[in-house]
Amino acid sequence: MIPLQQQRAWVNINHHNLTHNVKVLKQWLNSGTKLMTVIKADAYGHGAVKVAQTVIKAGVDAVAIATLLEGIELRQAGIEAPILILGAINTADEVKEIVKHNLEATLCSPHQAQVFADTLQSLNYVLPVHLKLDTGMSRLGTHWHNAVDFVKYVQQFPQLQLKSVYSHLATADEEDTTVMKLQQSRFEEAIFALKSANISIPCLHLANSAGTLCDRSLHYDLVRVGLALYGLYPAPHLRHTVPLKPVLEVKARITQIKTIPAHTGVSYGHTFRCDRPLKIAVVGIGYADGIPRLLSNKMNVIVQGKLAPQIGNITMDQLMIDVTAFPDLEVGEIVTLLGEEGEIVISADDWANAIGTISWEILCSFKHRLPRINL
Ligand code: PLP
Repeated sequence: MIPLQQQRAWVNINHHNLTHNVKVLKQWLNSGTKLMTVIKADAYGHGAVKVAQTVIKAGVDAVAIATLLEGIELRQAGIEAPILILGAINTADEVKEIVKHNLEATLCSPHQAQVFADTLQSLNYVLPVHLKLDTGMSRLGTHWHNAVDFVKYVQQFPQLQLKSVYSHLATADEEDTTVMKLQQSRFEEAIFALKSANISIPCLHLANSAGTLCDRSLHYDLVRVGLALYGLYPAPHLRHTVPLKPVLEVKARITQIKTIPAHTGVSYGHTFRCDRPLKIAVVGIGYADGIPRLLSNKMNVIVQGKLAPQIGNITMDQLMIDVTAFPDLEVGEIVTLLGEEGEIVISADDWANAIGTISWEILCSFKHRLPRINL
């Protein structure tokens, strides 16, 4: 097996930075607020098992994933912390797997509660459950007006142990806080109604990364932090909050260097044509590794501590860069696609802004054929 560092391309995962991010996030939280880190989608592309091990060691209270299989993967790797499945579970077979792997579930509706209760009764098992209210995201959850009925419905089943009530914010990353405040007031209304009905809820939570960073009144008993854990800010105006460090870097090697004459087209479709002779380098990474093809002719890479423009369409396994300004470059040298070298930083935000998407999607796009090197 070729050592990972000698391969054509890879992703570095910096666990020191991950630990740092947990530490600064914990310092930022209201005292008493717990930190649940969201490590769904293979920890936003960073590798769920290794990330879970690091963040649990760094002191997070629980982790959340989206799907049953993601939870099973963590348990099979020996992760013992509480694991909450954020997604909806609707079948008895899935409930049995949840029980088998000691996972915790989100209940979004009375119908789901019934499916869970029936299955749990047959297994004679009490499961911790987290009830989801829809306060304005219009995704999973029961309408916040019906919080009391929903909780009472769940509480009639001794097999369902109510562990928390939560909701999810739709616009916390926006500078205009109107919708976020509306969601918070709906959440508060639901809490008030529950208290008035003499129902006590052990844990309340509302905030994602943006909510956690923008307003401490959103912290409640627990926050669910995803993006910020990986060192990225949900929006530029939240940069002043905590000093996060990016965790993921993308590296690749130069596989060929050549000079092309003036007026030569580069790559499929010749979307780039040089007006003078150019020295170009081929880099061994492409869209099948997760570099968005939409970045073609719109990105730079870092070579020997300086920026070099990417030229022509990005292909499945390779892309080309203009290295005319680099006289001493050799085949095998490493270039940085995402990450920092000296003063120069290329972040997932830069890519997201260039192609009109979000950094969450960029992080999740790196494929498994790019080995993860855990630093
Ligand atoms: N909570 C829920 C229910 C989510 O679906 C997510 C992610 O989408 C998060 C928390 C974490 O969000 P973020 O990555 O913005 O922190």
